[in-house]
Amino acid sequence: MIKPSKKPSLLGPGGSGEMAMAAFDAGADMVYMGPRGWSRRTRAYEVEDDVIKRVADYANKKGKVLKLAFNTLPSSGELPAGLKAIEKYWKMGVKQFIMTDPGFVNQVKKRFPESIITASVGCSVMNIEEFRFYKEIGFDVMVAPCEMTIGEIEDLRQKFDGEIEILIHANRDYTYLGRCIMSSYFKFKHSIDDRGKDNFFGSPNRGGLCYRVCKSSWNGICRGNRKFTGKDLGNYCYLSLREIPDYIRLGIDCLKIQGREYSTSLVREIVSFYRELIDACFDDLSAVDDPIWEERILQLGIKRDSQRDKRTNALLDECTGRGEQIFARLDSIENFR
Ligand code: SF4
Repeated sequence: MIKPSKKPSLLGPGGSGEMAMAAFDAGADMVYMGPRGWSRRTRAYEVEDDVIKRVADYANKKGKVLKLAFNTLPSSGELPAGLKAIEKYWKMGVKQFIMTDPGFVNQVKKRFPESIITASVGCSVMNIEEFRFYKEIGFDVMVAPCEMTIGEIEDLRQKFDGEIEILIHANRDYTYLGRCIMSSYFKFKHSIDDRGKDNFFGSPNRGGLCYRVCKSSWNGICRGNRKFTGKDLGNYCYLSLREIPDYIRLGIDCLKIQGREYSTSLVREIVSFYRELIDACFDDLSAVDDPIWEERILQLGIKRDSQRDKRTNALLDECTGRGEQIFARLDSIENFR
């Protein structure tokens, strides 16, 4: 069998300075963090400037990469603050950014032509023409949607000559991540902070967050009296395993692990698992057949689910005040099919 020509980079989460360092030390080539107010996560998992400086210095010293997520959608009034923030981090040695808004990217590319911009999963780039379009307007790396099959990814790889990133641990949202507005119906408030950043609490796209309202025990009754609940929605978290050799064989550029909300020790374990798996499969694609990987990933999944469930309940509680209890009963959705 021909040896693959290139190993994908492994991108891990940095929900805190400690987590970022742990991810690097466990084998991540890159780590992403969210500067306060600019990423699609709550403040608890975003970081202050002194932490960014420390992690950027560490990454640069080790020949690794820190990516900063600026993947909210800024209003015209927020753009100057956003550009000022990018400039500040650029001076700290950060050259890569995860972004969603094409207007914002256009401005960043004009000022920092050497910057490397990843189109956030929030862009919901779906098809080959969208991949090409985003590349044309200045994005350098495109995230493939979580719903793509290996066949679709193979087709994309053959037709698209830009960099492709794939999420190997993430949530598969039935609504598509960047297009869900469910939480904004439950947290309808916003406030402008001291930097001119407008924070909408129910909208991850506008600097707030997703409260996972889809995961609560709500009920709906559709035409024909058919019932459905939040649990029927195809929204679940996955850890890729069998796909890893395919991603290596296809020459995918980057494999990303989501998880800023998890504990540092769990992130360390997940990153280290994928570091070992990618290295083993790069040497021999059939290495994935060893049952040890299945056993290990099962254990990781159990730990991950326990932490994620607690987090989901806390989010629902914060949003509705009733934890995972029913907070909405949709007694009829007239036009639901
Ligand atoms: S509310 Fe549910 S479907 Fe919407 S972004 Fe959050 S997790 Fe995804």
